[in-house]
Amino acid sequence: MMADKRRIVTGEREQQEVTYENKLRPRTLDDYIGQEKAKEKLKVTIEAAKKRGEALDHLLFYGPPGLGKTTLAGIIANEMGVNFRVTSGPAIEKPGEMAAILNSLQTGDVLFVDEIHRLARQVEEVLYPAMEDFAIDILIGKGATSRSVRLNLPHFTLIGATTRAGMLTAPLRDRFGVLQKMEFYTTEELTAILKRSANVLRVSLDDEAAVQLAARSRGTPRLANRMLKRARDYAQVRYDGNVTVDVARQALDLLDVDNRGLDATDRQLLKTMITVFGGSPVGLETLAASLGEDSGTIEDVYEPYLLKEGYISRTPRGRIPTRKAYDHMGLPVPEEEA
Ligand code: ADP
Repeated sequence: MMADKRRIVTGEREQQEVTYENKLRPRTLDDYIGQEKAKEKLKVTIEAAKKRGEALDHLLFYGPPGLGKTTLAGIIANEMGVNFRVTSGPAIEKPGEMAAILNSLQTGDVLFVDEIHRLARQVEEVLYPAMEDFAIDILIGKGATSRSVRLNLPHFTLIGATTRAGMLTAPLRDRFGVLQKMEFYTTEELTAILKRSANVLRVSLDDEAAVQLAARSRGTPRLANRMLKRARDYAQVRYDGNVTVDVARQALDLLDVDNRGLDATDRQLLKTMITVFGGSPVGLETLAASLGEDSGTIEDVYEPYLLKEGYISRTPRGRIPTRKAYDHMGLPVPEEEA
């Protein structure tokens, strides 16, 4: 049961979920809910590129997992009327593999590289001339007689996605024309996303239930859709199939998601900061070690939402729990902070 509960928030996905997600991905910019700033900017960029008959500038999307980076990249390819090729940083091991992918692109194509901060250095270096000059340098022959030959590529668009813009090397970051931060979604936006998903899945979802699920999805469409799936299953097994507000509440309770959308790990994290470290600044690694969690997961998956909602704050000496954290956990605020 524990593993079941934890999976609702983590960044990990199974094949079954990938299929479920693909089914729910909007295909056009108009169907893509929220991220208004990004959408405005992209509409102009797409329009301009189309008018000039050129490939779109290289784009970098950054922000926590599940906020719609892959979806948006796919929509851009769709709106530009070009092919969408998908790969990821850890999937490409050798420079030659990257060269082969680049060499197979057609004019205007979108190459999407997820987790781009995890590209191996030598693989990343293939991208520099590719992004800047639309060319790759290939080494022919061996030893003293080897020489480098430049191969021209069609003009393509690279869209990179990362949970950590700060982990990108400067030469790679500088080669993107647009750097776009992805924002957490409001409850209203998530409600709209859930209604759309329910429609696609032909699930009957009450308005109030949609709001309930939305409010407890940590501002993240992937989680909202995951919760809808759980609620739907629950409704089918225990009830008549309709996702009412009661069904939604019970499904959320089963997942151990509280009324603020925090899950067991979130609460454990806050509790550890308060009781083990007494509210003093604590470093990421120390916190991760005492929770038995991976520090990257805490940084990418858990912390951004807790920071945004004001449960924790960052100081030069480490993270500290805020008053809101004490209140939420029902623990007394130490004297000097009260
Ligand atoms: P990321 O690449 O940032 O991890 P994804 O693009 O894979 O996130 O999105 C995760 C899920 O959430 C997908 O099923 C997608 O359909 C849904 N989703 C994300 N953003 C939106 C949005 N703006 N409107 C509707 N659905 C969305």
